[in-house]
Amino acid sequence: MNGLMMQKKLLISSLIVHADRHHGDTEIVSRRVEGDIHRYTFRDCHRRARQMANALTSLGVKPSDRIGTLAWNGYRHLELYYGVSGMGAILHTINPRLHEDQVAYIANHAEDQYIFFDLTFLPLIKAVAERCKTVKAFIAMTDYVHMPKDAGIDNLLCYEELIQQSSSDYSWPVLDEDAASTLCYTSGTTGNPKGVLYSHRSSMLHTYAAALPDALNCSARDVILPVVPMFHVNAWGLPYIACMVGAKLVFPGPALDGRSLYELLDAEQVTLSAGVPTVWQSLLSHVEETGQSFSSMRRTIIGGAACTPAMLCKFQETYGVAVLHAWGMTELSPMGTICTMKARHLKMSLEERHAVQSKQGRVVFGVDIKIVGQDGMELPWDGATSGDLLVRGPSVVCDYFRNEGESPLQFDGEGQAWFPTGDVATIDADGFMQITDRSKDVIKSGGEWIGSIDLENIAMAHPAVSQAACIAAKHAKWDERPLLIVVTKRQADLTREELLAFYEGKIAKWWTPDDVVFIDEIPLGATGKILKNQLRERYGDFLMQPAERRRVA
Ligand code: ADP
Repeated sequence: MNGLMMQKKLLISSLIVHADRHHGDTEIVSRRVEGDIHRYTFRDCHRRARQMANALTSLGVKPSDRIGTLAWNGYRHLELYYGVSGMGAILHTINPRLHEDQVAYIANHAEDQYIFFDLTFLPLIKAVAERCKTVKAFIAMTDYVHMPKDAGIDNLLCYEELIQQSSSDYSWPVLDEDAASTLCYTSGTTGNPKGVLYSHRSSMLHTYAAALPDALNCSARDVILPVVPMFHVNAWGLPYIACMVGAKLVFPGPALDGRSLYELLDAEQVTLSAGVPTVWQSLLSHVEETGQSFSSMRRTIIGGAACTPAMLCKFQETYGVAVLHAWGMTELSPMGTICTMKARHLKMSLEERHAVQSKQGRVVFGVDIKIVGQDGMELPWDGATSGDLLVRGPSVVCDYFRNEGESPLQFDGEGQAWFPTGDVATIDADGFMQITDRSKDVIKSGGEWIGSIDLENIAMAHPAVSQAACIAAKHAKWDERPLLIVVTKRQADLTREELLAFYEGKIAKWWTPDDVVFIDEIPLGATGKILKNQLRERYGDFLMQPAERRRVA
């Protein structure tokens, strides 16, 4: 027997319809590529998204066609989020920080029909245009006045002209909620980029769960500034969440340096922000150097890479900004776990609470996790035993887009499907997960595993250290030993001996790195994460050289 309730499909278009109807005057503020600040409301956004849907229809776009974007966080990108997915086509957000060969590969693999781009990425479009075989036109996300002249690109269209020429008279179609809505490729730190194809239903369920109080705790009283890019896993779902709860949105555009971010956070009275640790590092340096403080920001979501206890402490104890440490992946839409306290944690000492907050946290509703050993058997939730982390849920990938290889899923003894994350983690009795490493970054010393994140966190707690990465370096006796690679703060004076002495008493002695390499810059990938494979290539043999020769190298 079916329930006697209304049949309403879970569709992305319902978010912007809701935001227009119930939060129509709520603002969306964007720092534009053109340099100025743009303001309008959810009502305006909805009108222009409908115009865009009409424009796409006249360009011949059909349901399930892929429409690429190479764009920063901004209002036009938001209009495409709703215009493209809402009309039944698939929004394909491309990461512009990838190498041009990868961008061309991805656009061809996705068979993009049109690509929208911010003017910043004109050189990239020029470099790949001829190689994008399925693209019928490139659309510059700007007005007529700012259109590039003599760009040398066939079929170049103007975003604002398309909008102007199109009526706002448009009714969002009632789609199948399992229809694909959005396509996002993994950034390739784990091999070739692979496409993760979200559906309306999976995105909506993710939005409901991620907005909850014990997750990101978003409301109509929030002003949200996603630093995390809209080209990377839907800016962790915040453009959808803001519409669902009616929060004001602030988009930083291309200006992601500490000073520009601070200006916007302060001027727009942002209450919640989100980004990877490397971005927060530059914001914190700016605030420290200028002696400023945060006038309105109360919470910040830190994820994508481990948030160090040092950063957590600085945000919370120095600036009164609560840190929400989150873990996720492109394959998870992306939120997997978020570190919010349970009632019993509130009674803990500050130090104990910080230790809990350094974990990646507990699952958002809909996600289930477990850790398994080499034999695939589930390991205990004791906060100490670490194993391969597996996940499942309605917003978790079940296969990659146009995957010609094997299924990414793993089946357990009961025939249940799980997605292996490639992360190694512990889970404690309260269900709090802590990543100890990525499986390929684990340091295997004499058959025992050493987690690199712990070692990096200790180095980062040293006042003279600005960035730290710990890699497995080949070792004649132990196969692999930890090697610490460090960038020091400007004008800081730090020796290898001082830094290694800093580990004493903080960790089992045999976990202490064997040596330290000081470098000027740590290589970062397209999503701001440390490229450990490059460091391994460069320094993997470092410990095989005699100690006296290493210092010269
Ligand atoms: P890619 O897999 O292409 O690097 P993702 O953004 O999907 O791109 O990366 C997901 C991975 O990032 C996770 O599997 C995990 O290794 C890492 N990660 C994400 N959040 C955290 C976190 N809070 N702490 C540690 N690692 C994290």
